[in-house]
Amino acid sequence: MKDYYQILEVTKNASQDEIKKAFRKLATKYHPDKKGGDEAKFKEISEAYAVLSDQKKRAEYDMYGRSYANGGPGAGGAGMNWGGFGAGAGGIEFDLNDIFEGFGDMFGGGRRGRKEVRGRDISIDIEISLAEAVFGATRRILLTKNNVCPECEGSGADRKAGTVACTACNGNGKIRETRQSILGTFTTVRECTVCDGRGTVPKIPCAKCGGRGVLKSEEEIGLTVPPGIEDGEMIRMTGRGEAVRGGVPGDLYIKVHVGKHASIVRDGANLRSTLSVKLTDALLGATYTVTTLDGPVSVKIPAGMQSGELLRIREKGVKTGGGRGDFLVKVIIDTPQKLSRKAKKLVEELREEGI
Ligand SMILES: [Zn+2]
Ligand SMILES: [Zn+2]
Repeated sequence: MKDYYQILEVTKNASQDEIKKAFRKLATKYHPDKKGGDEAKFKEISEAYAVLSDQKKRAEYDMYGRSYANGGPGAGGAGMNWGGFGAGAGGIEFDLNDIFEGFGDMFGGGRRGRKEVRGRDISIDIEISLAEAVFGATRRILLTKNNVCPECEGSGADRKAGTVACTACNGNGKIRETRQSILGTFTTVRECTVCDGRGTVPKIPCAKCGGRGVLKSEEEIGLTVPPGIEDGEMIRMTGRGEAVRGGVPGDLYIKVHVGKHASIVRDGANLRSTLSVKLTDALLGATYTVTTLDGPVSVKIPAGMQSGELLRIREKGVKTGGGRGDFLVKVIIDTPQKLSRKAKKLVEELREEGI
């Protein structure tokens, strides 16, 4: 007797989620369309999954220890109901697209189903100031793009006329395809492309959007730029891209450029600027005013300050998750290029003092 739990490499108490994950992993590994795949093994894990993923079949399997492969539908006695599983010898029926998104694409086939319809992504660029990058900012962005048609709410159908069943899929929204070749009878289900899986098509197309379900219109989008954002960073707004009929809208990507400040540069979490200090102030000490993004801040230049030394103004840097960085001021001593007669005399006296 086959042990379905062993085949899927899960325990007897495995949750539906664990079973699904295990199947996905193994099916990817053994899929016959894949190089190095294994048909027999794939069939075995598919069979195990078909039973264990179905609550009722799993309960029966747990109770009677039977599987279709060594018993057959009804063979084990009264009350055994294998439902759709009993259709034809070795018939396995479940929607691979429920388990794998883009399963067909994974193996280069695309014949089992197609990817979910998704609107196009939009990317735009915005420029913010250094202060906005440090403190965060908000922006209102006007975008002209495909939005869901307000008249038909995206259905593409005239509201009063309504919809009729799709003839391509008989209103199921899904099309069953049975393959005989590789795995015996192997049924896969894919979404109907005519009705985008809705099962219905418009009786009369919506007059406003011509049945497209979407309309080009201008949308105002509120953007919050988080504090601490770096130049070139991307903000993604899920679902704010182009809308598409019968699918999910794309995403909006906003690339943020941070403009240059006249005197302040960013250095990680810190901000930096330079300060010109008079020679005498560096010798004797003084108080200067430094321009920060928080406004002017007074700093004390200690007597005997060296050129190139850094002054640290705490927590006037970039906002980060934990708090704020510092503001670092590099002191440059401004050596006078021209001296008055009097000044020259005084400096000569200094020289005599050995300074
Ligand atoms: Zn419409
Ligand atoms: Zn259809």
